[in-house]
Amino acid sequence: MKSVNPATGEVIQEYSEMSEVQVKDVIELNLEVWKEYRETRFTQRSQWMQNAAALLRTRKEEYARLITAEMGKRIAESRSEVEKCAWVCEYYAEHAESMLADELMESDASKSMAVFNPLGPVLAVMPWNFPFWQVFRFAAPALMAGNAGLLKHASNVQGCALAIEQVFSDAGFPENIFRSLIISSSKVEAVIAHPAVRAVTLTGSEYAGSQVASLAGKYLKKSVLELGGSDPFIVLADADLEEAAKVAVASRMITSGQTCIAAKRFIVEENVAAPFLEKVKTLMEAYQPGDPGSEETSLAPLARRDLVDDIEQQVNKSVEQGAEIISGGSRIPGIGNYYSPTILTNVKKGMPVYMEETFGPVAVVLPVKDEQEAIEVANDSLYGLGASLWTSDLEKGEELARKIEAGAIFINGLVKSDPRLPFGGIKNSGYGRELSGYGIKEFVNIKTVWIK
Ligand code: NAP
Repeated sequence: MKSVNPATGEVIQEYSEMSEVQVKDVIELNLEVWKEYRETRFTQRSQWMQNAAALLRTRKEEYARLITAEMGKRIAESRSEVEKCAWVCEYYAEHAESMLADELMESDASKSMAVFNPLGPVLAVMPWNFPFWQVFRFAAPALMAGNAGLLKHASNVQGCALAIEQVFSDAGFPENIFRSLIISSSKVEAVIAHPAVRAVTLTGSEYAGSQVASLAGKYLKKSVLELGGSDPFIVLADADLEEAAKVAVASRMITSGQTCIAAKRFIVEENVAAPFLEKVKTLMEAYQPGDPGSEETSLAPLARRDLVDDIEQQVNKSVEQGAEIISGGSRIPGIGNYYSPTILTNVKKGMPVYMEETFGPVAVVLPVKDEQEAIEVANDSLYGLGASLWTSDLEKGEELARKIEAGAIFINGLVKSDPRLPFGGIKNSGYGRELSGYGIKEFVNIKTVWIK
């Protein structure tokens, strides 16, 4: 497996895949150490998790440089990512115990309740776009709940995978309670099939999600899927257009557009569509490509060459079918995987940029005649991850929020994940939740205790 710098094309490091025997050994060690780990007290786990947070803060620059080198995002974004990981560790160090407190319930018993016991080793199959955050978002609640973790990270970010394993080890967690498996996706079946592995969570594409979900079904393992999205960003006529345009562009451009919850379809009431488009165009055109390790750069490369090919094809096909390029619309020649910030209009149902997830800096603007049509277009998607809605009438916003088919709706704000709030999707965006009391309970045995 190779880590290749997306800005320069240089090979940073190569990693050899673990053999079947090595993988089996790691899983068995993980299970063995879990048998003792599940007996540890919350106070002890909290201490280790707080240590992990402190290490992340101390090593922020080192890890941020690693993220930027392996997957290419801007260094400032990488630093924020590491900080957010420290936050999620602190949050679950403080709150896991109360989230998992016994829940007394009325019944015919003198005492009856639900208690929440850990499941055991949980496999996490993770993507490269937030190579630290996606892992910590799973690991902080899962380890605090008393589970063990096995990570199969994306092939292009093995340096991040090993660094994360080191954080938990240096924080004082028992050796082998969190391990990275250096394997390609073809070896995932053997891990899911192993009787020690009790559950699997995958963050990634629909294809990988459906493959892993099939395996989870085949081997009867609990699964959670966090998949792609084509998030609507709805702007009603009474919205603050200046702010809406700023947030729409910021959302679309985070990690150069390679975010599951980026605003991808800008759905705008037609009487404000022209001024909104003008503002978006000015903001998008300000992004300039450069070295993502430099503080001045605003446009970072995409993580891999084939991802530029994918986005180029989606745009070209849509243009062939009648979409109009307002800005950008092509790859940036030269070294590095850069694609220009792109705005498309005249986009119709059936075009790739309407139907599919666009994982790059490409926004489509879809004018609609009123609120009702805005909701119809927003829901006219295979996906249902996040949605953002802009209006100055908060009551109306709340009412419309209930009609949008998505796992999260943000009114007058940027869709983001937050350690305190549930995160996940519906439809082809996956199932189950991460974070909050809902997320932490995905990987526990909700055990009924009935006492006469
Ligand atoms: P991906 O190609 O699906 O890869 C994700 C992970 O799945 C990687 O570790 C990959 O390993 C593995 N994988 C791929 N095919 C597999 C298979 N057949 N069996 C088992 N494992 C397999 O996705 P990506 O390109 O890394 O990430 C982009 C996608 O993730 C986008 O669709 C994005 O929207 C989604 N995403 C969703 C969320 C969310 O929270 N909902 C967050 C971030 C990203 P290899 O690298 O070795 O192939």
